[in-house]
Amino acid sequence: VLGGLTLVFAIAAVYVSHLMSKRAMAPIERSLVRQREFVADASHELRTPLSVLLASIEALGMSVPSASDKTDDRFAVQTLGHMKEEVKGMTRLVGDLLYLARTDSGAAQLHLEWFDLRASAERTLQGMTPLFEAKAMPIAFHAPEHLPVYGDEQRLTQLLVILLDNALKYSSSASPVQVTINEERTRQQRTVILSVADKGVGIRAEDQAKIFERFYREDKARTRQHGGHGLGLAIAKQIASACGGTIRVKSAPGEGSTFTVRIPAEFR
Ligand code: ADP
Repeated sequence: VLGGLTLVFAIAAVYVSHLMSKRAMAPIERSLVRQREFVADASHELRTPLSVLLASIEALGMSVPSASDKTDDRFAVQTLGHMKEEVKGMTRLVGDLLYLARTDSGAAQLHLEWFDLRASAERTLQGMTPLFEAKAMPIAFHAPEHLPVYGDEQRLTQLLVILLDNALKYSSSASPVQVTINEERTRQQRTVILSVADKGVGIRAEDQAKIFERFYREDKARTRQHGGHGLGLAIAKQIASACGGTIRVKSAPGEGSTFTVRIPAEFR
């Protein structure tokens, strides 16, 4: 009888402590929700003034003769150029924060449809060609002729842009970039494997897990100079996992980095 009573008390004690810990967690969860809502609202509110600011800077820029050799005009052109870059950087940051806040709260939904991933990736690469040309970086692309995917085209494009943008930022001029898309088939499912490989600065082993964290930047001074905020890879990871997949990096300092994304070709 005593043994039975002890068991009942032990179960009751575990149950009560579970209830209490749940109750203790409730205010923390509420505060997290409020914090996410605040970030989402603040980012949303900041978008309009930022676009007004950008339009105003552009309008001012048109009123200053850019080819003028007057010192004042040259100073104005240069200052307006800096202001424009800063506002663009802030707009990107605000957009990234808004996206993460929305996905955290479950408000960002995937828009699933059939599309050809090869054609879509080709369009993205074409759109970014001027940026690669500006740094004389050759870009090679390999993918199957057609690659039907049932997924969120806009999000997967965003993911590819983040990886290409990083390859551009963290490689010196004339360094080659290789984009490869493959498909793996098992009886149960098709998996798409997308990789972006660069021969850039590379990432130290101890930093490789951390680079997917929000606001993590390996070298703050260097990335600040590139206009990075340390949110790109956090978003890439978020997108890959929202699409039922993963993202991994293989890298060695001084040799380059390869980012590989694996996602089901038919996400349900
Ligand atoms: P950032 O805006 O700083 O580029 P990311 O989240 O995209 O933010 O990347 C986080 C950090 O990971 C970068 O600051 C950089 O140190 C490192 N990183 C990302 N991509 C590469 C790459 N292709 N080569 C070398 N380092 C990279």
